[in-house]
Amino acid sequence: MKKVFCVGELLIDFVAEKQGSDLSKATHFTKKAGGAPANVACAISKLGGKSVFLGCVGDDPFGRFLLDVLKTEGVDISLAQLSKTFTTLAFVSLAEDGERDFVFSRGADKELEYDPNLRKSLKDNILHLGAATALLGGTLERAYGKYLFDGLTKDMFISFDPNFRSDLWKENEEQFIKKCMPFIEKSHLCKFSMEEAQLLSGKTDINEACDFFHGMGAKIITVTLGKKGTLLSLNSSKKMIPSVSVNPVDTTGAGDAFIGCLLYQISDLGNFDPVFENHEVLEKMVSMANKAGAITTTNYGAIPSLPTKEQLDK
Ligand code: ATP
Repeated sequence: MKKVFCVGELLIDFVAEKQGSDLSKATHFTKKAGGAPANVACAISKLGGKSVFLGCVGDDPFGRFLLDVLKTEGVDISLAQLSKTFTTLAFVSLAEDGERDFVFSRGADKELEYDPNLRKSLKDNILHLGAATALLGGTLERAYGKYLFDGLTKDMFISFDPNFRSDLWKENEEQFIKKCMPFIEKSHLCKFSMEEAQLLSGKTDINEACDFFHGMGAKIITVTLGKKGTLLSLNSSKKMIPSVSVNPVDTTGAGDAFIGCLLYQISDLGNFDPVFENHEVLEKMVSMANKAGAITTTNYGAIPSLPTKEQLDK
């Protein structure tokens, strides 16, 4: 089984306990581990795969809490870095009008230093770049660029999820789009939500958006569409893969469960050729990943809701 190196942020989400009021009125918060690349690492290890988390947290109680959560989930944290800067914190509440109220205090996650020794380890393995905060600058953004180009051997597999957060890119969408382009060009697999596919391609039609990304060089594209399932596009050949019917209570982490499950299955292959050559192989994998996403919506919070292999097989 190949290793999946998940690079990016791990942070504390302080979620307001009483929803329906903005952050200025919130008084009680629940501390949760957050960060899309970290969720993906947990999704893979929970399914029995080998995931390695590469990110930076503060050398403080919050940082230690976060690394403990990942370790408990079976993620290899030996490459995680500690900084004197405080652990990144996000405060979130759902205001009365249903809008998310969000305050982001960026700390240690931006300080991940590029590790040249990883180059050897990446060969024959998988690199997952989930970019939510990574493209906001810092040595983390530099490391992302370097890992992308380190990963350009035919013996490894690069996966990219832009994880667009409108709260983080309010007046700067153009910059976000520009920064994503090299990753779309060079990655073997891109995972987009509908909103991301439209934003990054400038097309409202997702079929046209996929063709635009293929034209840039992207090979496999998945566009996740919530309860409808996922549009899969391999070298411009497209198929809608339906999801399963569930009663969702919280959709947080569904996208991370999806990409984690897809990468877990790819990591179980002897070599990467079948995913590029055989549409049916990929369709089966996406169908399984849809199930992982669906199961995650049936419980509260991201990491606690990620399915095990047994739950998925049921
Ligand atoms: P995130 O907000 O985590 O970035 P996303 O928008 O990328 O998520 P979704 O489309 O919400 O991801 O979910 C990923 C996958 O999970 C979907 O493609 C689908 O297969 C499955 N899924 C999500 N929500 C549901 C649902 N309500 N019912 C069934 N399946 C679902």
